[in-house]
Amino acid sequence: MYALKRELKLNNKERSLMRGIAGFKRFVYNYALDLITASWDFDDIKAGDSKRLDAIKKVFTSHTMNKPEYAWMRKYPSTVYQSAFIDLKNAFSRWRKGLAQFPVKKSKKKGDSFTVYKTSGIYLEKGKPALPFTNRVVINRGKRITLPGIKEFRLKEKIDFICSSQTFTVSRTADKWFVLFTLDAEKIPPIIHPIEKIGVDLGVKALATCSDGTTYAMPITTKKAKTKLSKLQWRNRNKILGNKKLKIRASKNSRKFYAKAAKIHAQITNIRRDTTQKITTDLSRKAYIIRIEDLNIQGMIANHKLANAVSNNCLYEIRRQLTYKQPFYSTKVELVDRWYPSSKMCSQCHHVQPMTLSQRIFCCESCGHTRDRDENASVNLENAPKSKVRLA
Ligand SMILES: [Zn+2]
Repeated sequence: MYALKRELKLNNKERSLMRGIAGFKRFVYNYALDLITASWDFDDIKAGDSKRLDAIKKVFTSHTMNKPEYAWMRKYPSTVYQSAFIDLKNAFSRWRKGLAQFPVKKSKKKGDSFTVYKTSGIYLEKGKPALPFTNRVVINRGKRITLPGIKEFRLKEKIDFICSSQTFTVSRTADKWFVLFTLDAEKIPPIIHPIEKIGVDLGVKALATCSDGTTYAMPITTKKAKTKLSKLQWRNRNKILGNKKLKIRASKNSRKFYAKAAKIHAQITNIRRDTTQKITTDLSRKAYIIRIEDLNIQGMIANHKLANAVSNNCLYEIRRQLTYKQPFYSTKVELVDRWYPSSKMCSQCHHVQPMTLSQRIFCCESCGHTRDRDENASVNLENAPKSKVRLA
């Protein structure tokens, strides 16, 4: 399975529609959770969670929904409450198996989400076979998507190929709305890689240096955002931020500060994620075999000089993403042995010489070959012997 997540481009009217539907889902979920917990007080009812929830659903559809004060529910698609019941069933079964805590009530604070699906089919419950193509919504190329039972929405980023899906989950993080849907992996068009093998040196200075001469840098905007954050923290250094143990209440202005800081933190994370995603997608499209160094991330974080750079540059993240993107782009990610002297070896004559971290240019003492340190390393990674390489 392959999942796509796209941000929705909503106007104010659509935003309140989404909020309304999410509220409906939350209402149903909490309603059913209340009723099932209450039903345990009656010892004479002997039924499992699933049966109880089915009975509650019947009460909901034939009784509660018909009350005049709940007339507003009629304007939302029925799949929303159906999936709320399925979610709750799953939550109970996870709890019974000991995989999760007892289901808690949904609250607005934790973000909004709901699921809709095409009704001519049956909703996919765990363990049931996949449904034929007719039960799916066809999604065309471009920046529009139709959510079954609601309407057509605009997307911020286009979809590159025609695909189809049955269920759509809409969610909100901060003030952004997203839609997530799953596709079958074989529906992704096949990729023809222009390069057969590429060596990628993941590093401190440039995020990634490739043996074909391209480099990927960390965008300057992270630095800007970080400066903004430290300025904000400095300016608010005297705010009473509150302390639960000492029973000091946080001031109103400190709450504003927290909200602002959270926004900048999210911004930094987003820039990083965006950058690593773009690099890994780009590389996966470009080359069939991608060779990276088998980094000892734990060891690098323990090294204080490198620690910040490692966490900033998210080298591990790049490796993880390259690895999980293998089936989608039919690539092969290979890890070159950690002790292979990729940065200490001449890419021309294979002469090995000591190199300190500060030396940015590789100057071969044997043949006089001069090259950028990272570029030299990436070529060495590409040409590393088979015995030093393992599959990720
Ligand atoms: Zn040399």
